[in-house]
Amino acid sequence: MRIKEDHMKNGQLKPGYNVQISTSNQYIVNYTIHPNPTDTTTLIAHLAQHEASFGKAPKVLTADAGYGSEENYSLLEQKEVTAFVKYGMFDKEQNETHNSKFPFAADKLFYNREKDGYFCPMGQPMDFIGNYTRKTSTGFEQNVKRYQAKNCHTCPLNGACHKSKGNRIIEINENLKRQKQKAFELLNTEQGIERRKKRCFDVEPVFGNIKQNHGFRRFMLRGQEKVAIEWGLLAIAQNLSKKAA
Ligand code: SF4
Repeated sequence: MRIKEDHMKNGQLKPGYNVQISTSNQYIVNYTIHPNPTDTTTLIAHLAQHEASFGKAPKVLTADAGYGSEENYSLLEQKEVTAFVKYGMFDKEQNETHNSKFPFAADKLFYNREKDGYFCPMGQPMDFIGNYTRKTSTGFEQNVKRYQAKNCHTCPLNGACHKSKGNRIIEINENLKRQKQKAFELLNTEQGIERRKKRCFDVEPVFGNIKQNHGFRRFMLRGQEKVAIEWGLLAIAQNLSKKAA
């Protein structure tokens, strides 16, 4: 995988593992080792490991934007976990400059629930024209609905509103849209703001302590199973030193 330490400065791929940890007040309470570089697809196995250790899912979970996918949100809903989990654009959406850059974005269009249609930036109806199912890299199925505008060729906003040749088509994943709205509201509650702050000084210092203070930058063992044992020893050491501090 592509890793941060890139001494040759050429983005070379190197063998490595993606270490996932859950912490509670800087104690490591769960860890899993993954061969894939993206965090998004690690949550399911990480949660399963938590359930195997504690006999139940956590009541509340806080995670950064790397974990905010439809598949993860759906799993957390199914397990009735209150999920303070950001989605990809959460931070950018709070930024006025970013928002003003995309005034015609699909997520800014008005939705008419009764008619199941949108209104385009010129106030013209965009009608439902069909839906399709797509699969993510993990095989998770997403339902996508399509809506199309009319008479774009005569519209003064054509070109600024969209770049396609015909009438503008938008694609909406309603379930993900609902989940993101739910996450947005939750993350902006008093508890959500508190939890977002806490995440920075709960889980991040643990990695910092192990990597920076103790200089652990490379596994000595090879293979996922042995690496899991090596990281387990580090986690025990981390927790004992935290207890002794
Ligand atoms: S270009 Fe098409 S979709 Fe965009 S505002 Fe004009 S009519 Fe509406």
